[in-house]
Amino acid sequence: MHNNYMKLQFYSLPENEPFVRGSVAAFSLPLSPSLSELSDIKTAVSEAVTNAIVHAYPKGVGTVTIEARIENNTLHLKISDTGQGIENVEEAIRPFYTTLENEEHSGMGFTIMQTFMTDFRVESKKNAGTIVYMSKTIRQNAE
Ligand code: ATP
Ligand code: MG
Repeated sequence: MHNNYMKLQFYSLPENEPFVRGSVAAFSLPLSPSLSELSDIKTAVSEAVTNAIVHAYPKGVGTVTIEARIENNTLHLKISDTGQGIENVEEAIRPFYTTLENEEHSGMGFTIMQTFMTDFRVESKKNAGTIVYMSKTIRQNAE
């Protein structure tokens, strides 16, 4: 398996989430993830991309970028937008914290990313944008 890199840039439209999730899943296949590891990656990507689609550009449509890198047996992901940003990241990543309470958002997106991935980090600046870094190390399946 080679170290590898890819970058996708797309509009913050809900119909883009499935293809991005599927693309990252396909990109990660050379790491030979188990079904459960693959499902963790897809869920985490879905949460991060959905956040950028739902929260970053409340007044319209913007651009979202996802970069994926395979280094040895780890998948590194960077999901970024240039939207409204998050005032207090520490507060936003707490379980059940949401600013869209009335629209069936449970506030569990960041918690899910944190739980399902090996590493997780958020950088954000009000009115500048948000970057989510996540990685998942795939144990080498002995067969
Ligand atoms: P759920 O993910 O359960 O549907 P949620 O999206 O509100 O609900 P989280 O994903 O944990 O919950 O995000 C928490 C809060 O962080 C959001 O309500 C929003 O205020 C803020 N947030 C998350 N991602 C972004 C982003 N890319 N840009 C701006 N704000 C964001
Ligand atoms: Mg969310």
